[in-house]
Amino acid sequence: MKKIRLGKTEMMVTRLGFGGIPIQRVSEDEAIAVIKRCLELGITFIDTVNGYTTSEERIGKAIAGQREKLIIATKSLARTRDEIEKHLKLSLERLGVEYVDLYQFHNVSDADTLKTILDPDGPRAVIEEARRAGKVKHIGISCHPIDVAKEAVKSDCFETIMFPLNFIYPDAKNELLPLVREHDMGFIAMKPLAGGMISNASIAFKYLFQFPDVVLNVGIERVHEIEEIVQLVEEAPPMTSADREEMARLTREVGARFCRRCDYCQPCTEGVPISNIMSYPNLAKRLPPVRLFTGKFADSFAKAANCIDCGECEERCPYQLPIREMMKEYVKLYEAEKKKYEENLAPR
Ligand code: SF4
Ligand code: SF4
Repeated sequence: MKKIRLGKTEMMVTRLGFGGIPIQRVSEDEAIAVIKRCLELGITFIDTVNGYTTSEERIGKAIAGQREKLIIATKSLARTRDEIEKHLKLSLERLGVEYVDLYQFHNVSDADTLKTILDPDGPRAVIEEARRAGKVKHIGISCHPIDVAKEAVKSDCFETIMFPLNFIYPDAKNELLPLVREHDMGFIAMKPLAGGMISNASIAFKYLFQFPDVVLNVGIERVHEIEEIVQLVEEAPPMTSADREEMARLTREVGARFCRRCDYCQPCTEGVPISNIMSYPNLAKRLPPVRLFTGKFADSFAKAANCIDCGECEERCPYQLPIREMMKEYVKLYEAEKKKYEENLAPR
């Protein structure tokens, strides 16, 4: 499989990367089989996150004995020195490796969080120290809001950035990618299928083929999915006019009701975590039920009840999403699915 240079890291990585979110949803044997098939097909860039339940551990089991062939990336949501130190230690243990090639500050969602990450005495100091000790080779960042992403690039404190890129959400193409190239950073595209909202993978990848310097990080759950995607990437068929029409149609269909997680709708005076609720269709496709119906997401959906219907978030949403209507719909769906989940758990 074709390899490309990941910006100033100088690492050569496969154009197609394996994203470790969906393997939490399947059995361990299935997860290991998917990862092994990716390796057989020539994918050598593996990306995961400390917080994705079993993902790192399963990757560790699947790659045992093949470390040197691979470029391994992981991330952490930690925002303090103590926490990130623990996260890195855990990641190395679970992955069964002595170092990771890329360590990313995950989901940096606003200017204050970026400030914390950029603080030379904050969690970054721990990762810089780990780099000197050889436990981390390169440092990157992942985020959704474009303004935060641009500030992160301009800071020159990171070697890579992971950001959503697909034809429904093309902001990165126009606003971020030129800046990333100027700063010689590696660009890792997340959500190539818009988190499952684009059902036509062929068209999604044809759109992405126009960026030869971008790594396509694809979350894979089943062996047949990766086989189909690898075939698409290797054949790289050109875009036809019929594809363009279909792209425009899908953009109209999905784009009108698709939350980009940019968080421009915040702050909500009632503390409603809007983008978590608005991302329900994507989350339901990607996360295992235990993560969806407990912890952070359960808290988010409980907070939806605080909404006082003021409508201020809708005035701030650059995509004119009917936030209140969509949140009500998703909360209803969520509650119904959560009930089924809890019924299945209850002793019979
Ligand atoms: S409509 Fe609800 S979610 Fe939106 S800002 Fe007002 S209280 Fe918050
Ligand atoms: S609702 Fe609109 S403003 Fe809020 S995160 Fe989604 S796309 Fe952004």
